[in-house]
Amino acid sequence: MVNKNDEFKLNITGYTSEGGGVGKFDGQAIFVENTAVGDEILCHIIKAKKTYAIGKAMKIIKPSKSRIEPECTSFKSCGGCSFGHIKYEEELEYKAQKVEDAFKRIGGLSPEFKPIISSPETTRYRNKAQYPVRRENGILNIGFYAKKSHRVIDGGDCLLQPQDFTSIIEIFRKWINENSVTVYNEEIGIGLIRHIYLRKAFATGEIMACVVINGNTIPNSEELIESLKEIEGFKTLVVNINREKTNVVLGENCINLYGDGYITDILCGVKIKLSPLSFYQVNRNGAELLYKKAAEYVAPTPDQTILDLYCGTGTIGLSMANSVKELVGVEIIPEAIEDAEVNAKLNDINNARFICGDASVAAEELKNEGIKPDTVILDPPRKGCAEELLKTVAEINPQKIVYVSCDPATLARDCSRLLTLGYEVKEVTPVDMFPRTSHVESVALLTLSSI
Ligand code: SAH
Repeated sequence: MVNKNDEFKLNITGYTSEGGGVGKFDGQAIFVENTAVGDEILCHIIKAKKTYAIGKAMKIIKPSKSRIEPECTSFKSCGGCSFGHIKYEEELEYKAQKVEDAFKRIGGLSPEFKPIISSPETTRYRNKAQYPVRRENGILNIGFYAKKSHRVIDGGDCLLQPQDFTSIIEIFRKWINENSVTVYNEEIGIGLIRHIYLRKAFATGEIMACVVINGNTIPNSEELIESLKEIEGFKTLVVNINREKTNVVLGENCINLYGDGYITDILCGVKIKLSPLSFYQVNRNGAELLYKKAAEYVAPTPDQTILDLYCGTGTIGLSMANSVKELVGVEIIPEAIEDAEVNAKLNDINNARFICGDASVAAEELKNEGIKPDTVILDPPRKGCAEELLKTVAEINPQKIVYVSCDPATLARDCSRLLTLGYEVKEVTPVDMFPRTSHVESVALLTLSSI
């Protein structure tokens, strides 16, 4: 048993699912953040529990071969990245292993795993940032939450975001200071500016700025708009109203202050309208590779019907619509469905229809209507698919299910549920959409067991 304040040499031999280092001492697991497999460290115990302990690396005695000097100066304090200190190849290996482990441990499955697809860029790949705005001891901080905390660290020039975002934040900072605009205080729920939310369409260069406020309007918006117009690609300024005492960033209502209230990107050759509330993959160039892999698994032909469940603004299905007979998309957020319909029109796609509703309910209705899709695409949020949805999908009886997932654990769980419903996992490809973080995307091909 180790105790608080113990200090000893420790070899780091593995990573946790959040990307922290792990070593064993006296048969006990010791978790140490910002360490790499192969490091020998001097470990100081900061918390000791019965079955595990948390340590801090006081010194790296012998660095791992995978270690690099973090490019970002905020790496140690900011909670955004897990892997600033190791080579990208090591990160990819970790992610591929994480997916395989989840299938084995949670699903009891060992399907064929294809090599992980790496992200085209490992820095400045994100097209979206939500910066909390807070004041601490009179100082205005616009940036990111510190690790495991709601303290805001001023963002500086975050290396995951486009550089234009840094310039835009400075414009907001100047406007807030010069106009004495109040900022939100989470504890008492008072103050106007909560978040600054920026989006960039990488293919077109268009930029959207959105201010999330605890109020109805912002003061002196003309001055803000004039400054924002100096940013190349700036297209629209939107206010999002969020008066709730909640950790959820966005409220339901948006007011357009300048421009159309949306920007347009191009993904897999399809024009995509992006509104503040609609989901869009944060790594556009990575998403193209992910959707290409999904299309390879779907293998679209002109006689096929595709059912795209959890379709967001329709992106995955629309990228294949021209090669199939019919596309049906289902999504729960009304604004995303409106965007999906606009996206179909924008691209002269006439064989697509979109249904707004819960995937389980809509799938049941479509089954009763007698829909006979050749392939069902599933792309749920992290919590995965509801059990009743998987049952309904199996009753619809498509030949293939192509499952896109941002959480290997729920993907593995759902694949093992689908196995009992008659579907076999043919192949899984991990895709790195989130370099420098511990998150990994995967796409799995399942087929009816009898074929
Ligand atoms: N396929 C899209 C979106 C994937 S994200 C893309 O690649 O861009 C998951 C989507 O599922 C989100 O748009 C979310 O709004 C939607 N969603 C969440 N719960 C849902 C439910 N119960 N039924 C239908 N859609 C849901």
